Amino acid sequence: MTGLTEKNRRWLNKRYIDAWGPDYVAHQPIWGYHRGHTERGHITRFCRTLNLLRVLTAIEGYIGSLLDVGCGEGYIAALASELMPSCQLTVSDISSSAVYKANDLFGFRACASNSMDIPFVDDSFDVVLCSEVIEHVAGPFRTIAELIRVARKFVLITTEASVPWPLFRQVCLKTREAPGELYDRNTWIAEDFSMMFGSRCCIYPQFYKLATSISEPEDIQRARSLVYGMSDVRKVSLKTTGMIILIAKREDALPPPQFSKDEKMMDLILEGPVNTCIKKSEDWDSEWVEKLLCPKCRNKSITIFNPNEVICGVCLNRYGRHNGVLDLLPSIVQDRGLDDELSAIRSLELIRGGKDGYLDNLAYAFEERDIKKNTFLYYFYRLLRGFFSFAVSIIISVQRLQAHDR
Ligand SMILES: [Zn+2]
Repeated sequence: MTGLTEKNRRWLNKRYIDAWGPDYVAHQPIWGYHRGHTERGHITRFCRTLNLLRVLTAIEGYIGSLLDVGCGEGYIAALASELMPSCQLTVSDISSSAVYKANDLFGFRACASNSMDIPFVDDSFDVVLCSEVIEHVAGPFRTIAELIRVARKFVLITTEASVPWPLFRQVCLKTREAPGELYDRNTWIAEDFSMMFGSRCCIYPQFYKLATSISEPEDIQRARSLVYGMSDVRKVSLKTTGMIILIAKREDALPPPQFSKDEKMMDLILEGPVNTCIKKSEDWDSEWVEKLLCPKCRNKSITIFNPNEVICGVCLNRYGRHNGVLDLLPSIVQDRGLDDELSAIRSLELIRGGKDGYLDNLAYAFEERDIKKNTFLYYFYRLLRGFFSFAVSIIISVQRLQAHDR
């Protein structure tokens, strides 16, 4: 049976299909607001992006290099490179189609790799970004441990799959569904990250809850003020959606997000990065190849073999190489299982002691088989969940829209 990681990869490869033509629909709003062929939902994506960039630019002084794990089409990385032109960017994704696209669009140095086995040596990048990934992966704790390992200074994680209370999380986990595509397997609460990193992490919300019925205005000025209104929030609460988690690997002091560059960020977001940045292809030079770990034997022994391949000097495994893109994935990616998650938690607790058993229990809960669909309990949970989400989003939306129109 194919595991979750392999299923996710196949689904993403289909989404970021290799063909480059007029029919291509971008997942991320890379051409700007309501331009080009992109999936809908721009307003919420812009809110999340704006707050992510606010946090990222707060640590700008520390960032000489950045790795974006789960980059998709390279949208966030492209915005970051516009705001921080001297930052060296590398992007990776489980989908080779996605990284080919990121390289094609933005010329990023890119590799197809698994977030649970990041193919770089320790402390390779000043900042490691991982946006909207940990809710989907089969090994969330292994992923977090890997992000921390390859980061030198900061890790920035975002996840929209977050709820305010542990009990509500249980409801979400009991009623999650795998509809044959990337689904929210892991739901988080803020306490999980405090358990792992204590005062070394700061948690910010993504945006105010938004009723799904809100239509996206055609007028770009109205969209701009809507995004400002929905994203102007600094504290995670019942009224907010998602989390942006900034983790300092060593330094204890975390700088607060700054809002001074907001106009520039907003212009960039509404315009989209594609029309404003023309970059040369960044190939893997020897300095970067030296940072690579062989994903199979975990040795630092990869060398450039020929224009289309790199080779591991220890296990002799060969990997594909094309311009700025390396394909460092096996033909079938295997999941690692619960024991691996528990050992990843052990390695995290060396960084910061968590309460005994809390994270272990969470790993069990994420792993648990979903509740049978045809039971009374299942429908009861779904009803509870749906009612709660609907009630909160309506209240907040009405409040926000009233404030906006005033
Ligand atoms: Zn090897």
